[in-house]
Amino acid sequence: MGPKRELKFALESFWDKKSSAEDLEKVAADLRTSIWKQMAGAGIKYIPSNTFSYYDQRKCFCACYGNDQGFDTNYHFIVPELGPDVHFSYASHKAVTEYKEAKALGVDTVPVLVGPVSYLLLSKPAKGVEKTFSLLSLLGKILPVYKEVISELKAAGASWIQFDEPTLVMDLDSHKLQAFTDAYSELESTLSGLNVLIETYFADVPAEAFKTLASLKGVTAYGFDLVRGTKTLDLIKSEFPKGKYLFAGVVDGRNIWANDLAASLSTLHELEGIVGKDKLVVSTSCSLLHTAVDLINETKLDKEIKSWLAFAAQKIVEVNALAKALAGEKDEAFFSANAAAQASRKSSPRVTNEAVQKAAAALRGSDHRRATNVSARLDAQQKKLNLPILPTTTIGSFPQTIELRRVRREYKAKKISEDDYIKAIKEEINKVVKLQEELDIDVLVHGEPERNDMVEYFGEQLSGFAFTVNGWVQSYGSRCVKPPIIYGDVSRPNPMTVFWSSTAQSMTARPMKGMLTGPVTILNWSFVRNDQPRFETCYQIALAIKDEVEDLEKAGINVIQIDEAALREGLPLRKSEQAFYLDWAVHSFRITNCGVQDTTQIHTHMCYSNFNDIIHSIIDMDADVITIENSRSDEKLLSVFREGVKYGAGIGPGVYDIHSPRIPSTEEIADRINKMLAVLEKNILWVNPDCGLKTRKYSEVKPALNNMVAAAKLLRTQL
Ligand code: GLN
Ligand code: ZN
Repeated sequence: MGPKRELKFALESFWDKKSSAEDLEKVAADLRTSIWKQMAGAGIKYIPSNTFSYYDQRKCFCACYGNDQGFDTNYHFIVPELGPDVHFSYASHKAVTEYKEAKALGVDTVPVLVGPVSYLLLSKPAKGVEKTFSLLSLLGKILPVYKEVISELKAAGASWIQFDEPTLVMDLDSHKLQAFTDAYSELESTLSGLNVLIETYFADVPAEAFKTLASLKGVTAYGFDLVRGTKTLDLIKSEFPKGKYLFAGVVDGRNIWANDLAASLSTLHELEGIVGKDKLVVSTSCSLLHTAVDLINETKLDKEIKSWLAFAAQKIVEVNALAKALAGEKDEAFFSANAAAQASRKSSPRVTNEAVQKAAAALRGSDHRRATNVSARLDAQQKKLNLPILPTTTIGSFPQTIELRRVRREYKAKKISEDDYIKAIKEEINKVVKLQEELDIDVLVHGEPERNDMVEYFGEQLSGFAFTVNGWVQSYGSRCVKPPIIYGDVSRPNPMTVFWSSTAQSMTARPMKGMLTGPVTILNWSFVRNDQPRFETCYQIALAIKDEVEDLEKAGINVIQIDEAALREGLPLRKSEQAFYLDWAVHSFRITNCGVQDTTQIHTHMCYSNFNDIIHSIIDMDADVITIENSRSDEKLLSVFREGVKYGAGIGPGVYDIHSPRIPSTEEIADRINKMLAVLEKNILWVNPDCGLKTRKYSEVKPALNNMVAAAKLLRTQL
């Protein structure tokens, strides 16, 4: 997206018809040029090309898309839907054009292509053939297109080519592994004369896959993520094929921490002994798409914290420094500055908080659950809340108008006083409360007008978090996120939401939901410290949120929603690691609310993702009510319950899609609810939209919610 999101702004201005296609192409070409020159200037030898995309890295490959999340990242990509009749042809010559473009600038690059097997494995079978169609049966159809691209790249003068085959780190059966053998055998003659790098990342490569990989025809180099894939190191030591290049991914491409250069150098020395001096290439662990761009633009970061960090621009300098050191030209000053920063990070009092460490350590091994079971709790809550059947609610945020954003911005820039700010936010909350009462919604929200972002809002009030000004990472299309940096032990110096929630509750007799972001989501949407296990950081956040939950309860808030929008996203790629993650993630969630009274109703909310395979963990979260995004997933969610999974807590599968401006009719919503009633007990079903309403307009939200309440009321009369 560029160091200051240049591409995002150019794209959006083009979409708004404020600039021409040529303007956009100019911004894009300038960005490519500056990245290539920057890498060449930093001394990088194997510089990738064809990594640039206007919109999505994989879109250029197909005509028909679904939507999926990129492995365990917050990057969403568009997934081709392929059926038996698909016809592939060589459409975009982008790989070649970009190669030539760089060459004209004097930079000889390594064109990067998604490998043919991963491309197929990451696609989805088209509608109607989901169960019967094997994506790999298309290999014979797609390889001829790969051959055309490879030949053209060769003719253009490329001497290296990289295939990304990240699916090799997943649990693949022998049939799928065979596809790699077949594909590269088939490509062998076309690839001859080229150096071919197969790149894997995000986890270690399982032993079986490693064997397959090591024996591929036509391949001259292998790239491994040695940050997340520490077990791969052992495989390399025992069975790395002779005479091949090793691209050793020792610099973390997924995070923002400065590399421990001394440690990396000793790993590299060891690897050099195995693969030979001339065959070892120093590399980042994966592409730099998932990290921030350049630390140089961070003018507001604390100096000490800044010395611990490396964004993409700094990572390539680290890569070069390591390669130079291997070649006997160690930059002693650079290495000792790095060692000093590593040491300061280890000993800094701002990182360690003994009390927090102790409290988090004490959690381990023991279970944290509410004392009473969920059905008894729901009875106790109902006595207090007295809700109708099919209660209605929303997920939290209400539309954020330009005016509202302006108020927040001016308060932050100290252009308006705290009193004026509080007054403006109170007015906004009051408006949202009155609207919900008019709409006759049963459980209200305050609308979250004081929040810019559901993670940043909490991070700013917790200790152990730092914020960047330009640390943007692409999330979807032109959308970027700016994850907070968790650098130290997390604690909560003061209540974070109690003032706003109790203010909102005082405006209405109806129950007002307290609204919190859960520990797992805060963790998964931040850059997390790498000097302790993720679960420890998560437990610390859980304890901070627990304090907040208990303060809300004391302030008279009887319903508290703890969003875990990103719980599914953190699921490790490998099945063998999933149970452990789910265990501590779900445990963290339960820690936040294990101390509340039976009469306090705990809600949670989850965004679109594939829930079916983690449904038992969702049940184990033991929330009283869960609202889940549902309307885009083809009611897949409901099929779990149809297949007999027992669910006793309250559940609100979204009844309409908030991502679309379309206003759903009462009949349509009633129809949806009826479908849910066919598989779920009427006394546990809630009626709510899919997600928060932040990005919608009031002109859409009002009629949609009106129809939603009407549908609930209609069905109540029929039950
Ligand atoms: N409470 C949040 C909101 O309504 C939830 C957002 C989310 O799930 N992504 O905005
Ligand atoms: Zn959501």
